Amino acid sequence: VSLAVGDEDAASCVYLKSQKKATAKVGIDFEVQLMPADSSEASVVRRLEALNRDASVHGIMIQRPLPGHLNPSEVIRSLDPAKDVEGVHPENLGCIVHGIPGRIPCTADAAVRLFRSTNLAPKGLEVVVVGHSEIVGKPIALLLVHELATVTICHIGTNDLKSHTRRADVLFVATGVPGLVRREMVKPGAAVIDIGINRTEAGLVGDVAFDEVREVAGWITPVPGGVGPVTTAVLLENTVR
Ligand code: NAD
Repeated sequence: VSLAVGDEDAASCVYLKSQKKATAKVGIDFEVQLMPADSSEASVVRRLEALNRDASVHGIMIQRPLPGHLNPSEVIRSLDPAKDVEGVHPENLGCIVHGIPGRIPCTADAAVRLFRSTNLAPKGLEVVVVGHSEIVGKPIALLLVHELATVTICHIGTNDLKSHTRRADVLFVATGVPGLVRREMVKPGAAVIDIGINRTEAGLVGDVAFDEVREVAGWITPVPGGVGPVTTAVLLENTVR
């Protein structure tokens, strides 16, 4: 079940459409539950608690962004961690800190899996993560620290971003700033994983200026067609598990 709080638009967004298509393809029953945009936090929590108790529901997702009057942390905390197929509940995030098996946020998991497909050994690598969100940047950094990579996290407060990104053997970018990472910011031969999804007049683009960075990178993921579809696949895998 995907819980969307908002108007009809919230229930027809691209992400929900791709969830619907992907679940249908593998035979998972999928339902969107839409609650009005002005729903109180208590009513959203009650709905989640009912879904937690419903034995016919195996996985629950909460569509983001939530309307501004709802505190996302409080809403997420009311999810049953065992039904948290997106891996966003604090208990699942805590498993990453401890390095014990839990559920990794789908997007972070997808990005790290794409990195693994390079067959680079993480130990000793310089990894730079641009973006420090709870569900993307921070978990990616922790996952690679566990494998003894040297990890730097950059964000909006970073002075001289380029001085960091230029050192990266592996560069993860999740900022929501179209084309933030340019050719001169990337070390030749680096693996570049672009997590950004930005709607622009030119269509869907990532946070990396793909056409120029591909000329220096050793590996690079495109947008669309890179991290996005792998994220959906991880979501399905989590649901089955
Ligand atoms: P967010 O929007 O919560 O935070 C943005 C992060 O980028 C923050 O850490 C901020 O400090 C940093 N940042 C912003 N501008 C910056 C700048 N100029 N220089 C350096 N750092 C800067 O992040 P999020 O939710 O992780 O989303 C990031 C991007 O990833 C968005 O484009 C989002 O659409 C995309 N995303 C993709 C998927 C997927 O499945 N591929 C899933 C989730 C999010």
